[in-house]
Amino acid sequence: MSRTTRWQFIILMFATQLATAEVIALRAGQLIDGRSDRPINNVIVLIENATIVAVGQDVDIPAAARVIDLGSATLLPGMIEAHAHPMMHDDNNYQYTHLSESSAYKTLRSLHALQALLSAGWTSVRIAGEADVYYGDQAIRQAIDEGYFTGPRLTGAGHYLSITGGGGDINYLSPEQSVVADGYIVDGVAEMRRAVRREIKFGSDWIKLLVTGAFMSANDNPRNVHFSEEEVRVAVEEARRFDVPVMAHAHSAEGVKLAVRAGVRSIEHGSFIDDEAIRLMKKNGTFLVPTMYIGDYYIHEVRDNPAQQKMIALSRETRPEFFANIGKAIRAGVKVTVGSDLAGMTAPSYPAREFAMLIEAGMTPMQAIQAGTRVNAELLGWEDRLGTIEVGKLADIIAVGNDPLNDITALERVVFVMLNGEVVKQP
Ligand SMILES: [Zn+2]
Repeated sequence: MSRTTRWQFIILMFATQLATAEVIALRAGQLIDGRSDRPINNVIVLIENATIVAVGQDVDIPAAARVIDLGSATLLPGMIEAHAHPMMHDDNNYQYTHLSESSAYKTLRSLHALQALLSAGWTSVRIAGEADVYYGDQAIRQAIDEGYFTGPRLTGAGHYLSITGGGGDINYLSPEQSVVADGYIVDGVAEMRRAVRREIKFGSDWIKLLVTGAFMSANDNPRNVHFSEEEVRVAVEEARRFDVPVMAHAHSAEGVKLAVRAGVRSIEHGSFIDDEAIRLMKKNGTFLVPTMYIGDYYIHEVRDNPAQQKMIALSRETRPEFFANIGKAIRAGVKVTVGSDLAGMTAPSYPAREFAMLIEAGMTPMQAIQAGTRVNAELLGWEDRLGTIEVGKLADIIAVGNDPLNDITALERVVFVMLNGEVVKQP
């Protein structure tokens, strides 16, 4: 490097430092930090280089800071959606659209859905497998990471792994038809090892297993256990070698227990969970993502959907038992978190309806907010960086106009979104 270029380089580096060292000061009427059980009033949060550097009532705002005054709004950590399917459809038969829409088309639609989720306050999203063949969400994550698009932080599974005839298979065609199922069909331990390795090879940083039957797929029963304990153990063991956790869709109590014994990190749904399963989850520190709103969504919003009559009937029939069961898990101290299970075509405000469901099941509003922020960050293994508004954390911060402790539906109307220190939505 010549002397001139070296000086140019040093000046450029200095200028870059100055440019990235902008300090932002957020002022708001209230702060819910994701950890404390009490909000703080009249708060200032200082952000520098994407990191929260000060939080409190008596913070000195540097003269050069850009001040964003949000008035009486409430600041919260960015919400974390722990169970999303942005490539899937909800307004018709998602298994049919899997067959009729290309992976490229679904990927573009998913990008749109994920950007809408970010704008609605969901700064991180865990994908619970997709009705897709070609790892579209992993491509979206790559494009976001490379700076081509703005979108939420993404993690999750390319596919949901299912047995032949399970919730990820297409079970309404004659035997002479051959199609690529919406899930990834896996039978036996050898196929399980191969499937887990392939998922990880193409960018899944979670493995998703359909351990029991499902509510939404045609012609299978959520009360049946599908994978054997041996198959689930092999999935966990194989994924663990790559530091990849496993999430297990399980409705029946037997399915939940089998998956928890095998060492999965989270149970999805857990509709018919019993006392023994709750004890086991508490002992092992297994997370529970009950996805409670989706049943009401189908009962009230899309009840005429002919392809989802099984989902609607099961949701109606099991709702009281399901809500009572999740209430028991909450009271027992199981780490119950927020995930919607909604598809990409659903209104982006709807995933926040999950908070009201958790409150109905027995959480306080503050507990529900912490479940969708700090506890979900812990589920993702990101608790050192995300989930709370505390000094040293990355600045994923949102604001709502009304006090969510009095009106939890305020979380459906997010007015301000900051992702990694950058403002992506402002009143
Ligand atoms: Zn799901």
